Amino acid sequence: MLIDTHGRTATDLRVSLTDRCNLRCTYCMPEEGLQWLAKPDLLTDDEIVRLIDIAVTCLGITEVRFTGGEPLLRPGLVGIVERVAALQPRPQISLTTNGIGLERTATALKAAGLDRVNVSLDTLRPDVFKTLTRRNRHHDVVDGLTAAREAGLTPVKVNSVLMRGINDEEAPDLLAWAVAHDYELRFIEQMPLDAQHGWRRSDLVTAVEIFEKLSARFTLTPEVPSVRGSAPAERWLVDGGPARVGVIASVTRPFCRACDRTRLTADGQVRNCLFAREESDLRTAVRSGASDQHIAELWRAAMWGKKAGSGLDDPAFLQPERPMSAIGG
Ligand code: SAM
Ligand code: SF4
Repeated sequence: MLIDTHGRTATDLRVSLTDRCNLRCTYCMPEEGLQWLAKPDLLTDDEIVRLIDIAVTCLGITEVRFTGGEPLLRPGLVGIVERVAALQPRPQISLTTNGIGLERTATALKAAGLDRVNVSLDTLRPDVFKTLTRRNRHHDVVDGLTAAREAGLTPVKVNSVLMRGINDEEAPDLLAWAVAHDYELRFIEQMPLDAQHGWRRSDLVTAVEIFEKLSARFTLTPEVPSVRGSAPAERWLVDGGPARVGVIASVTRPFCRACDRTRLTADGQVRNCLFAREESDLRTAVRSGASDQHIAELWRAAMWGKKAGSGLDDPAFLQPERPMSAIGG
């Protein structure tokens, strides 16, 4: 198992399939994009599947989420999902995506064994979408969401980040729309993981503010019994349910104590936390012929040293060198 010195066990693996993206969300990437990883540095499809196999069969991983950058840009995605779905014991498989291209691939991904998707959409307004992502692709995301629901990749979750003065007043409209379309909406507090290091705590739209904005239009009741567990979102029933809304308060109410995550970057580095400043290199081990046991040992050692918390409230907090898009959000 992947345990750490604070008594947590990681069972949820986040795999970044690429650091590239076709959007440029202002809270994530600069307009000009980033220096992408070179192709030879990326894990191949076979290397990714081997590492997930080790994680599932030797290290107790029960959930695998593919992310990025934009994971739908990875040409081998459907094949990777298919091979991971064939592992024993079969893990739950999900995908976090910006939804562009999902209209074409949702059915194939479902057939390959993908269980669920989270699609990121911050606004219902194409003009605001263009301001936020610097691309005119709002309709692609909406079509991708529809395709995901029709393909049975359910429950389809929608991730939204609110930016003050840009889309924060849209929170209740986003919720009404999500409820009407049978999507489960989760707001994510903006974290200091942007490549430009432009995050300011004073600009943060907090979970408390989000709750207040939603409560002006909806009756929100905490889910009983609380099922948060290791799940990062605090969830409420909307107008008595069954629709729900979640808020991931990574900054103001972090869930570090219950964190069950481990991360693998597209270039084969294990990270024990989004905010970690160290990584452990599995790619070199894989490419130098290391046994599964040896790789599992390296992975265990990487997780053992996981810190108790993100350190966000520490005055000496330093943003990790890699931005969210290169870590895998
Ligand atoms: N490109 C895919 C997408 O946008 O869903 C997957 C990668 S993206 C890094 C994963 C999630 O992280 C998205 O829901 C995105 O909104 C969120 N995200 C990106 N930068 C963030 C930040 N600085 N703070 C909070 N969430 C962020
Ligand atoms: Fe791309 Fe996702 Fe980052 Fe937006 S949040 S720039 S879609 S990786």
